[in-house]
Amino acid sequence: MFDKIVIANRGEIALRILRACRELGVKVVAVHSEADRDLKHVRLADESVCIGPAASADSYLNIPAIISAAEVTDAEAIHPGYGFLSENADFAEKVKQSGFVFIGPNAATIRMMGDKISAKNAMIAAGIPCVPGNNDPLSDDEKKNLKLAKEIGYPVIIKAAGGGGGRGMRTVHTEAALLNAIAMTKAEAGSAFGNPTVYMEKFLEDPRHIEFQIIADAHGNAIHLGERDCSMQRRHQKVVEEAPAPGITEEQRKTLGERCAKACLDIGYLGAGTFEFLYEKGQFYFIEMNTRVQVEHPVTEMVTGFDIVKEQLRIAAGEPLSITQDQVKIQGHAIECRLNAEDPRTFMPCPGVIDQFHMPGGPGIRCETHIYNGYKVPPYYDSMIGKLIAHGEDRKSAIARMNTALSEIIIDGIKTNIPLQHDIMNDSAFAAGGQNIHYLEKKLGIY
Ligand code: ADP
Repeated sequence: MFDKIVIANRGEIALRILRACRELGVKVVAVHSEADRDLKHVRLADESVCIGPAASADSYLNIPAIISAAEVTDAEAIHPGYGFLSENADFAEKVKQSGFVFIGPNAATIRMMGDKISAKNAMIAAGIPCVPGNNDPLSDDEKKNLKLAKEIGYPVIIKAAGGGGGRGMRTVHTEAALLNAIAMTKAEAGSAFGNPTVYMEKFLEDPRHIEFQIIADAHGNAIHLGERDCSMQRRHQKVVEEAPAPGITEEQRKTLGERCAKACLDIGYLGAGTFEFLYEKGQFYFIEMNTRVQVEHPVTEMVTGFDIVKEQLRIAAGEPLSITQDQVKIQGHAIECRLNAEDPRTFMPCPGVIDQFHMPGGPGIRCETHIYNGYKVPPYYDSMIGKLIAHGEDRKSAIARMNTALSEIIIDGIKTNIPLQHDIMNDSAFAAGGQNIHYLEKKLGIY
């Protein structure tokens, strides 16, 4: 195992990684921006290094500064968390070239999966079902594009090959709107992701978002840890996640889960990763792979009792997987509510000082957050300030526990989305389970 690693992230995930390191006896170097000196994990870390001003571009995305921090502190590896540089192949490459271990897959795999077109093609080759589409970059040939859309059948969706975070997508319902939509998505993709490549696929009208967690070692072993349902979304961003996905059978889980694990072996995957699918009318369609730990990993940890972050560290250190597929057992049900510092009605971010914070508790409750009394939520980063996870013997009891926890938690001083989460937990359609990705926006009256 490593002696010391750098956590190249902030907030709740940095704290989560620090806790895994503590359990494994690994020392932690926290790198932080000037605005983040008071982050909880920075205070708890063995060493900390300020890597630049508040703006992410100057700090958490500053590759030379992060690598220098690893050099001056004599660390051995870098954990990228999620977001920021976690899926940046150039970063993974530079980390390795500088003599450190990148805790994640190799740069070539990240590059292949970071481009949604090459990812889709790799998945088709591995026998994973994909959304019907062209699976090539769209050319400027207008006639060809019109013909293609007709073949796929409207509605279609134009997606940026390098897109992420729910951005860089445009749905097209009619032929008249197609060419303009392609041009606009290309222009947006070019400025937002530095890559104007777009592709076209069938727009599924009422799918659910279901994803499989996998983990693979460097010794030819790969397993899946079951699936999560992340259909409660707003603007293509997840709000509530759960495991297992309501209504998915043991047979479906086994068939697709094993296929994903096999695909990992085919592409030489290393570490934790997620295969994301849309699920409609009993069929799964691959949309993308995330080559990092995900925000919603705790629901899988709660139902499997397996620590994904500790395993990421072990695998990066060259150890074999600590469990076999047969040892993976799904027990009960877990739900995660993302806690955001935002207005629950307008969704405007609401940074500021937390006057009072009371953590909920009780059986099956897990609270992943870096906030504390007096902590100032800075305005520079994502508005997520934590996650509340409830585990119960079944879905009903997980919802009941989440409801109790949401009533108990107190975050004063800033606005949060707790009222919205409470509303979702008391929604009869949510209680029934299996709603599609548009449900929440319809409920909010914005779809
Ligand atoms: P990102 O990398 O930005 O998260 P994804 O490809 O994972 O993008 O898609 C995010 C979300 O966009 C999905 O969860 C779904 O809500 C919607 N989406 C993407 N592709 C399609 C499609 N072909 N049909 C319908 N919805 C889609």
